[in-house]
Amino acid sequence: MTSADPVALAEALIRCPSVTPDEAGALAFCEKVLAEAGFATERVTFSTPGTPDVENLYARCGTGAPYLLFAGHTDVVPPGDAGRWRHDPFSGTIEDGVLYGRGACDMKGGVAAMLAAAIRFVMANPGFGGSIGFLLTGDEEGPAVNGTVKLLEWAKARGERFDHCILGEPTNPKHLGDMIKIGRRGSLTGHLTVHGRQGHVAYPHLADNPVHGMVRLISALLAEPLDAGTAHFAPSNLEMTTFDVGNPASNVIPAEARATFNIRFNDTWLPATLAAEIERRLAAAAGNAVRYEVAFAPTNATAFVTEPGDFVTLVQDAVEAHTGRRPALSTTGGTSDARFIKDHCPVIEYGLVGETMHQVDECARVSDIEALTAIYETVLGRYFMPS
Ligand SMILES: [Zn+2]
Repeated sequence: MTSADPVALAEALIRCPSVTPDEAGALAFCEKVLAEAGFATERVTFSTPGTPDVENLYARCGTGAPYLLFAGHTDVVPPGDAGRWRHDPFSGTIEDGVLYGRGACDMKGGVAAMLAAAIRFVMANPGFGGSIGFLLTGDEEGPAVNGTVKLLEWAKARGERFDHCILGEPTNPKHLGDMIKIGRRGSLTGHLTVHGRQGHVAYPHLADNPVHGMVRLISALLAEPLDAGTAHFAPSNLEMTTFDVGNPASNVIPAEARATFNIRFNDTWLPATLAAEIERRLAAAAGNAVRYEVAFAPTNATAFVTEPGDFVTLVQDAVEAHTGRRPALSTTGGTSDARFIKDHCPVIEYGLVGETMHQVDECARVSDIEALTAIYETVLGRYFMPS
């Protein structure tokens, strides 16, 4: 196997059953491939009480500036019932030009393309002058506390300074060339409790029904949009995710009602300002009539955007050069490790087609893996040797 062949690299990575937090040989494989190509590599393990230890890999080639960092994860979500897959989820089988396996698109195929592109580039341009790095974690699909966030702090403490980062998550909805992510929404979860007084449904004047109070509060939260959206973001969205009374009896007014909501918010808000706005709306709706509490879960997901500029344009041009499509600049989707990277350098996300991520029969077109490698190579060429 040649390490410049991204499909062979992707197959080998899929054959490591690296379900979070198991490393299962995936990072060791990346380390070996990078070390053979002349990268200085380091394996770093982080621990936090109450969460599993997680292995990570940092690698760098070159000592000069500018420094372009590739980031990604080699852990995968569980395959579920392997019998429902057309091929064993960890076999890395190619059928009709499609590579099947857990992680094929999210994101071992993307990691393989980054590795192959960087190795091809440093082999062809040994004196390129800048630095290319890899920041690979085994903790993206899990709690994400012992992965990228700590690895970035570790690198910073060693004096590593990055100029730009590409995170290879699967950003394209249908076709390579659809979409680059230049930011992500934040996420805030709130837990709402309304207190009442239990009693007989036929004697409501002797009770206080918390369900009615909860309906009033939820209605207030859903009544008005949180904002109208911003230059790069859709309007923030609040979704009610639970409404629990847990009352087995139809003739009893319950004592308490609980509800949970999650807000995916844009750059109008910080978690604290958004929480304050929610509290204001709840207080206005409750008046003196509803006794309630709201508690917000801690969040490390703030909204961010990498403003379009030279770097974003460079990546967009490279994608268009190989796919014939001008990728849209988007901030849609869930959170990703980019929310940590943005505190260290401008970051964009671009990778494979994500249609089958986390699904049974996760897969990636072989031709997409090869084209993504060519795109990354073009980015490297134009980044380090602008014409
Ligand atoms: Zn992923």
